[in-house]
Amino acid sequence: MKPPNECAACGICCDLYGFTLTADAGDLERWRVEGRGDLLAMVGEDGLLWLEPETGEHLDHCPHLGRVKNGGSLHALCAIHRTKPHICRSYPTELHRYNCVGGRTFKP
Ligand code: SF4
Ligand code: SF4
Repeated sequence: MKPPNECAACGICCDLYGFTLTADAGDLERWRVEGRGDLLAMVGEDGLLWLEPETGEHLDHCPHLGRVKNGGSLHALCAIHRTKPHICRSYPTELHRYNCVGGRTFKP
């Protein structure tokens, strides 16, 4: 059994909430500094994530979620892990009592 505070990389949170995200001012500034025009092009009004850059359509999933084989199972992989939005980085929060939807408990 894995100890508390360890993400199992199941990707359930990304699957379920990947279309409900918003970028905050810090995310937008970081992406500007990092030259991530590709990410900025996927931000809508009030920081809404993720838009299809060509059409401005709000996607019904996070386009950065991938999965890789890890032994007999699949591990979720965030393609923008190093610069992912704060809302992803901070999940699960006090609001969730630090319990993620995948059944893990994280320390504050
Ligand atoms: S940006 Fe990364 S961490 Fe956030 S929902 Fe997408 S895949 Fe998951
Ligand atoms: S649901 Fe929990 S264990 Fe699964 S990827 Fe998200 S934070 Fe990690």
